[in-house]
Amino acid sequence: MSVSTRSDSPDMEPSFRESVDLMFNRAVSLMNLSPGLEEKIRVCNATYTVRFGVRLRGQIHTFTGYRSVHSEHMEPVKGGMRFALSVNQNEVEALAALMTYKCALVETPFGGSKGGLCIDPRDWDDHELEQITRRFAYELIKRDLINPAQNVPAPDMGTGEREMAWIADQYKRMNTTDINGQACVTGKPINAGGIAGRTEATGRGVQYALREYFRDPRDVARAKMEGGLDRKRVIVQGLGNVGYHAAKFLVEEDGCIVTAVVERDGAVFDNDGLDIPRLKDWIDTHGGVSGYPEARFHEEGAALLEEECDILIPAALEAVIDRGNADRIRAKLIIEAANGPVTPGADDILRKKGVVIIPDLYANAGGVTVSYFEWVKNLSHIRFGRMQRRQEEARHELIVKELERLDRYLGDAWSMSPDFKSKYLRGADELELVRSGLDDTMRTAFQSMRDVLHSREDVHDLRTAAYIVAIERVAGSYRAKGL
Ligand code: NAD
Repeated sequence: MSVSTRSDSPDMEPSFRESVDLMFNRAVSLMNLSPGLEEKIRVCNATYTVRFGVRLRGQIHTFTGYRSVHSEHMEPVKGGMRFALSVNQNEVEALAALMTYKCALVETPFGGSKGGLCIDPRDWDDHELEQITRRFAYELIKRDLINPAQNVPAPDMGTGEREMAWIADQYKRMNTTDINGQACVTGKPINAGGIAGRTEATGRGVQYALREYFRDPRDVARAKMEGGLDRKRVIVQGLGNVGYHAAKFLVEEDGCIVTAVVERDGAVFDNDGLDIPRLKDWIDTHGGVSGYPEARFHEEGAALLEEECDILIPAALEAVIDRGNADRIRAKLIIEAANGPVTPGADDILRKKGVVIIPDLYANAGGVTVSYFEWVKNLSHIRFGRMQRRQEEARHELIVKELERLDRYLGDAWSMSPDFKSKYLRGADELELVRSGLDDTMRTAFQSMRDVLHSREDVHDLRTAAYIVAIERVAGSYRAKGL
């Protein structure tokens, strides 16, 4: 099958697949890989296309889906399952490649994959969508393209924990004796083998990424800002799973002000800051931001991406910042919560303007990180913290008892803070452990990019640094196999 390209004419932006390759090429030109290994890492290993029919509303409807495997240097391969009309082979392959580099960067032991179904989920009711999802899953499961040891999907645009539960159930129906069947997909609801904190994970990861960025004043100064996240003005595109959680946490826990939200049907704007949960409720009930009574509405939503702000969070789809609007972007820092929101042409323009970009392969890696924890939980068949929690509490109790003794002995001279005992005694539950693991992952991965950026004179941006770290790890893995 031929892959569509958009770069035949010099005026056109490259396709998404070509964009990922261009960014890959920029990084490998600064590395010392043999040409053969470079090519092996770049190419997409395989893409499976399936067309299947489902009888709905009295007639047979044919759907087209894809599952692409970019690199199997580690297995299983991992990557989301997207439901959108824009899904095509080129997009799925680009996203699969990004997954390879993302997993390597955050050190989750997976190769890269991605899947998609060409469908607008809003066209179908819940029961119909379940039939379609199960049928798509059936096609992939029977070819081991969904399998706990080989290929493990997760949610992406247009899918969530409900779809993942259908896929897991379908797998179990077809593999009744596979004791690890639940690990065939991640992002499931808690009562179907999921893990606490997975739904919020990608947005939470965006928050942790920004916190880490703002920890180093050198980085903050690079984006022509100062101080921490408090009072920073933020614009978000796409208030779906990723955008909503990122915006909510940044407002509630870090003091950011979200001045605009750009959605499919337009944008809403409030200089004093939007109430994110209220706006999300409105979108869920009314299908868009239009008519939201507590903010100004702009029909030309994308124009709001160009408004002045400290941090721009594109969290919807790819190529929303291209050569056409890059010059007008006034954000100081862009964090790519979505995959591929900035085209390579726009990336060049923005870098020249001094806009800092925290790249997708790092910024939205929170999802795959917590998916990794879920997969491990499923394979170990035990909730995180179940063995240690009470033992940890018992050991803490020993210290608290000693402190209480000291408290009595010292009288008025010293006393324990009122809530110290209850806070210190409580052992960590699964959610706390997941957040701790995610925070550690996001910090460590950022530091690996920072080390490259600050130690090499030929690297000037975080994206190139991220690709160098990731490609070096994938190359190491192939070399270890003797390639
Ligand atoms: P989602 O379907 O939950 O949300 C997407 C949001 O974008 C929706 O609110 C939708 O209305 C909005 N949107 C769609 N088209 C738009 C347009 N033209 N203009 C403005 N808004 C538009 O999807 P999601 O899971 O939040 O994924 C968003 C992005 O994050 C995608 O690029 C995805 O690949 C990436 N991502 C998601 C995860 C995850 O865990 N869900 C993990 C990594 C990366």
